[in-house]
Amino acid sequence: MARKSPFFSHIHNFMKVADKLQRIEELTENLSLPKYNSLKINYLARLITDTELHVNHCETCKKNEVLLTNMIEEIPHLNNIEHRQPYEKSFNQIRAHFHKAHHYIPIHYYASRYSMVGIILGLLLAILTSYLITKTIHTDALLIGSIVGLAIGYLWGSYKEIPYRKAKKII
Ligand SMILES: [Zn+2]
Repeated sequence: MARKSPFFSHIHNFMKVADKLQRIEELTENLSLPKYNSLKINYLARLITDTELHVNHCETCKKNEVLLTNMIEEIPHLNNIEHRQPYEKSFNQIRAHFHKAHHYIPIHYYASRYSMVGIILGLLLAILTSYLITKTIHTDALLIGSIVGLAIGYLWGSYKEIPYRKAKKII
């Protein structure tokens, strides 16, 4: 069997995505906006698009591709909790796969972690300097320490997220 050229395989994947997005549109055209949002339809579309990017070289993405097709067909049945639970579980499963296997990060991953570390270090530093200089611990110093720590942590974390944002690897 002749091997498909990468170019045609990209076109083929692109068409598969277009078909799925078309199907989502058909199934959601009568949904209200709050309902649309609560079913995370935009997020579903994002998972479909990104899964297709990896489907040619990742077995799990290949399986997830089938899972996603089934999730689309579940859309009309999601008022039923027995359908809704597996749907939500599939989201988490596919998302976790991107984090683990394809070096994606969750939204605000570094910003939130570094902010927390910043607050703690800022507080410790404030306690230490306040005590060393005045022999007591001033609440003002604690407040300033935690705010400065938070700001530095947040900026540092956001900076670290830039390459992920550029590569569209936040999911
Ligand atoms: Zn994969």
